[in-house]
Amino acid sequence: MRNDPKIEISTRLLRTLHRIHRQRTDLNGQIARGPRQIKAGEALVAKAGTDMQTVKDSLKNANLLSDEKQLQLKSREAQIDQLQTKLNSAASNREFDLLKDQIAADKQANSVLSDEILEAMEAIDGFEIQLNDAVNEFEKQENEQQTRIAEVEVKTTDLQNELERVNAELEQSEKEIPSEMMVEYRRIIKAKGEHALAPVEDESCGGCYQVLTTQYLDRLRLSVLIRCPNCNAFLYLPETTQV
Ligand SMILES: [Zn+2]
Repeated sequence: MRNDPKIEISTRLLRTLHRIHRQRTDLNGQIARGPRQIKAGEALVAKAGTDMQTVKDSLKNANLLSDEKQLQLKSREAQIDQLQTKLNSAASNREFDLLKDQIAADKQANSVLSDEILEAMEAIDGFEIQLNDAVNEFEKQENEQQTRIAEVEVKTTDLQNELERVNAELEQSEKEIPSEMMVEYRRIIKAKGEHALAPVEDESCGGCYQVLTTQYLDRLRLSVLIRCPNCNAFLYLPETTQV
């Protein structure tokens, strides 16, 4: 054990300080969670937006394809009409047969095209249903995000008020800290936060589990300020221990 000057400090004060520092850590953690929740929500909205745009694009392409095929069909049908007129005034059997074959081939091609148009229209119906779902999902995500932002705002305000209250309590308690301890206290709190203090549990440091000698424990019972020889935390006896 180092030959520290004996500083007396009340166990109650150390317990209170540790409780307050733990509360501050917890509150700061909860406050930090808010922006992360909002950011995660933004990602959900963005994804729903991208999904919706993908379906919109697919629907637009399917419509263009269908329009194109319908135009093609009309133009081929007009072509068949022309061939039909030529057929009626064919000058030779050879020309007649050629035209007849041509008309049959065009009609076959148009039949295939008609099937393709039907398929394109079915695809359009499918994309319209998908788009409806995607728009609903996007709106749902947007609404949920608005709700989330509002909830986080309310919660953050509550947490910040609570933090202010705890900070005021800390300020009050710190006034009781012996002045000889103050510099070290400030230094270690800055470095370790709530882990600057640790209860003794089963004759060990509750922060790092270093086993403590009887000498340490005896001094603790006498309300002498003791640092953990391993993690340097200010040690105190928890409420369950008889002081
Ligand atoms: Zn320790």
